[in-house]
Amino acid sequence: MTITLYDTLTQTKKPFSPVQAGKVTLYACGVTVYDLCHIGHAMQAIIYDVIRRYLEFRGFEVIYVRNYTDVDDKIIQRAQERGMHPLDLSAEMIQACESDLDLLEVQPATHSPKVSEFMPQITQMIETLIQNGHAYAASGDVYFRVRSFGRYGCLSNRRCEDLQAGSRVEVNPLKEDPMDFALWKSAKPGEVSWSSPWGEGRPGWHIECSAMAVALLGETFDIHGGGKDLIFPHHENEIAQSECATGKPFANYWIHNGLLTVDGRKMSKSLNNFLTIRDAVAKYHPHTIRYAILSHQYGTNIDFSEKVFYDAYQRLIYLYTLLAKLQELEDQFPDVERQAPAPEDAEWVEKFRQAMDDDFNSAAAFGVLSAGCKAFNDLLAQSGKLKNRAPQLLWLGRHIREYLGIFGLAPGEPKTKLAEINQYLIRSKGLDVAWVEDQIAERQALRQNKKYEEADQVRQRLIERGVLVMDTPNGTTWQVQP
Ligand SMILES: [Zn+2]
Repeated sequence: MTITLYDTLTQTKKPFSPVQAGKVTLYACGVTVYDLCHIGHAMQAIIYDVIRRYLEFRGFEVIYVRNYTDVDDKIIQRAQERGMHPLDLSAEMIQACESDLDLLEVQPATHSPKVSEFMPQITQMIETLIQNGHAYAASGDVYFRVRSFGRYGCLSNRRCEDLQAGSRVEVNPLKEDPMDFALWKSAKPGEVSWSSPWGEGRPGWHIECSAMAVALLGETFDIHGGGKDLIFPHHENEIAQSECATGKPFANYWIHNGLLTVDGRKMSKSLNNFLTIRDAVAKYHPHTIRYAILSHQYGTNIDFSEKVFYDAYQRLIYLYTLLAKLQELEDQFPDVERQAPAPEDAEWVEKFRQAMDDDFNSAAAFGVLSAGCKAFNDLLAQSGKLKNRAPQLLWLGRHIREYLGIFGLAPGEPKTKLAEINQYLIRSKGLDVAWVEDQIAERQALRQNKKYEEADQVRQRLIERGVLVMDTPNGTTWQVQP
C-alpha cells in the first residue's frame, strides 16, 4: 500500500516515492516572529506534526525542517516601537512560540533554522544566481530576473503575461522588469544588516527558504509544505530561485494546508482577527484544539467557531471514556493476550491506514475510528463473562489508542485528561464545582430516602446547567456537557 499526496505543482494525487528509500525530507515554511503566535499558526504546526508522526508510524525516518523568519520588515518595525534590537525581539518570540507549541504537544522539528544563522548560505545562493544570469545587482539590492526562468508560474498556474497585466504599478527604477523580486535588500540607515558582496543589507523573504532547505535537506528533497496563501508568490519564487541555482528539481511534492478563517477571512495579525495560542489554550483544552483541526482534511479551510471546539469536546469525552474503560480492562486482566475480533469488527484497522495513506485524510480516518469505537463499545455492552471478551476488547482498544497517538491524542492517564476537560467545561459554563457536588449529594440523600421525584428534580436542575449525572456500579459521576 502506498501513500498518495495531492501535489499542487501537478494538481494530481501522486504516489509517494522518496528520494532516499525509508527516509522523508520535509520542509514547511514557519513563522515570521514579531509577535505571539496565533492559532492559525498552531493549525499549520499541528498539521505538519501529524504528517510527520504518520510517516514515522509508516516506518520512515523523517527529517522535518520548520524555519523561523527572524529578519523581516515587520520585526524591524516592531523592535523599533519596543526600543529593542530586532534579533532580541525575534529570539523572545521564538522562545514564546516554542513554549506555546509545546502546550499543544507539537513535537519540535528536526531542525528549526533561523534566517540570521544562514547568511553565508543565502549570500552564496544569490552569488550563484548572479553568476548564471538569473539575478542582477542594482545599487546594493539584488533582484531575481523572473523571465529568465521559463517555468515561472508553474506552481500557481499563472503565466508571465497575465502576471504582468495584473501586477500593480510599482515604481522601482532599479528593477529591469516589474515582476522581478528582491533577493537582497540594501540596508536603510540604522537597520540591522549583514555584510555581502553588494554591501550591507539583508535577504529578501523568499531566498531564505530556498537556501535553508537546500542546506539542510539537499538540492532535491521530498515534500515542501506551507499554507495555501504561500503558493504565490512565495513558493513560486522558491522554485524559481532554487532550480535556477542548482539546476535540479527543488521539491518533488508540494502540499498546501488550508487556513483558519474568521467569518471567511484568513486569521492574521494584520487583520487583527486572531486569537493567540496562549488565549486559545486558556479557553480550550489543548487536545480539543488538536481534534478540532485534525477533524478536517488538512487542505480545507476551517472557519473558527465555538461549535468546532465544542464538537471536539464531545468527541474527546467519548474517546477518552473509551480509553479509560480500556485501562480498567488492562488492570483487571493483566495477563490476557489480545486477540483479533470477528473480521467485520477488525476491518476498520486497515481502513484507517487507507484513509491516512490517501493524502493524510485525518477527517476520514476519524470517521473510520468511530467504527472501531462502536465495535469496542458494542462488545463491552454484551452480556456474559467479561473475561471471555477481554482479548478482543484489548485488541480493539489498543488499536484505537495507537491510532489516536498518531494525532498526538494519546492521553496518558485518560481519566486525568477527562478531569482536565471537565475543568475547562466547568470554567466555560461558569459553574461552581462545590455547588454541583452539593446538588449531587442532595440527590443521593433524596434517593436513599426514596424521594425519587424530588431527586429527579435535582437531576433536571443539573441538566439545565449542562451537567450530566451518571449512575454507575461504582457510584454517581458527573460530566459537563459541551
Ligand atoms: Zn518559505
